[in-house]
Amino acid sequence: MAHDHDHDHHHHETQGGSELSPMELRVRALESVLVEKGYVDPAALDALIETYETRIGPHNGARVVARAWVDPAFRTRLLGDATPAMRELGVGGRGGEHMVVVANTPDEHNLVVCTLCSCYPWPVLGLPPVWYKSPPYRSRAVIEPRAVLAEFGVTLPPTQRIRVWDSTAELRYMVLPMCPAGTEGLDEAALATLVTRDSMIGTGLPRAPGPSA
Ligand code: FE
Repeated sequence: MAHDHDHDHHHHETQGGSELSPMELRVRALESVLVEKGYVDPAALDALIETYETRIGPHNGARVVARAWVDPAFRTRLLGDATPAMRELGVGGRGGEHMVVVANTPDEHNLVVCTLCSCYPWPVLGLPPVWYKSPPYRSRAVIEPRAVLAEFGVTLPPTQRIRVWDSTAELRYMVLPMCPAGTEGLDEAALATLVTRDSMIGTGLPRAPGPSA
């Protein structure tokens, strides 16, 4: 296995320059070993990745957020016990078995990180962004969350506290952002389009409704 890995690594480096990150190279190498040894059907792997990239994505979380914005009873259920509440909308599955939703308020902004590795609620938010898995984000989100948010273009009022939640394999957090102003006439589906992935991690805020929205 070590030999195959070295070989694959070398092969990619000489062939394609440095277009693949070291992690991507490792994933490629692992995939080719698994396929070669017959452990993994490449078509099944493609289908799985395709599913997480397109079918399961942040829009699942966005549906949950939009419902919470329009339905106070759902919001209460969601904040009380997120996993069954999400299941009402058909959202859940592996990596989302024990979800906790934390709501932003004018006094408190929530930020999610996995300091240990990269635990992330896949069925709700899809594939994690590369920065979520990066060591600087994982350490700095805890030490200096306000500075990290500023780098994401989010400047919070100094009176708004920041709470940082450390996701684990057992417990995965999602942020319920505040509904932006000017959305009074929008229905649930239109509201969902304002909910960004980053707003559910806490590194962003929902989009403001456009003039035509
Ligand atoms: Fe993790």
